[in-house]
Amino acid sequence: MSTTEYNKALCERLESENRCPVCTLVRDQEFELLRHLQYQITRDADVRTSVAAEGGFCPLHFRRFRKIATAQTTALLMIELVNEYRKNGHRHRLSCRICHELDSYENGLIQELTRLLREPSFIALYEKRTGLCLTHTEAVSKSLPEQVVKFLYEHQRKELERALPDLEAMGTLPYYDTTRSQRSSIPRTVEKFAGREAFGI
Ligand SMILES: [Zn+2]
Ligand SMILES: [Zn+2]
Repeated sequence: MSTTEYNKALCERLESENRCPVCTLVRDQEFELLRHLQYQITRDADVRTSVAAEGGFCPLHFRRFRKIATAQTTALLMIELVNEYRKNGHRHRLSCRICHELDSYENGLIQELTRLLREPSFIALYEKRTGLCLTHTEAVSKSLPEQVVKFLYEHQRKELERALPDLEAMGTLPYYDTTRSQRSSIPRTVEKFAGREAFGI
């Protein structure tokens, strides 16, 4: 992807969804990759062979693959993995192609963000949103000027504190007495701490 595409994706996402833009973009990309792969695995024997030669997927992506692929598609891939094992007598060193592609996409987003977060107009928009999760705040902070890093952590602290009254209500009230906004404080805070692994299927 080009810098312009990363830029467009980040600006649009920050406007449209009040969650960590990197996490939600990576989540969508992950779904697209899985969707495309399950189609390719069903249709194309060469793709099955190359995925099997890579040792299949990591545990997380095997689980997510199984959620969207049919039993037949999963069986076709497993046949290839079993054959690969029979041929070599050992398991290949795992190299999950979904993880590789997502890492590279995530890095592209982080790089573009470190540029955008130096622009006052982007900061003005960022200030109105919940902003990045903690993992992605740390990732961008490595290469930003000190005053921007300070702003990001101050913003993060305010966002987390804002969730406290709702979390306290969830921790004390019976569930059926809580409001939707109070209930949403749990996934919102989990996502802040857990990052993109907490998103998706
Ligand atoms: Zn994130
Ligand atoms: Zn993976």
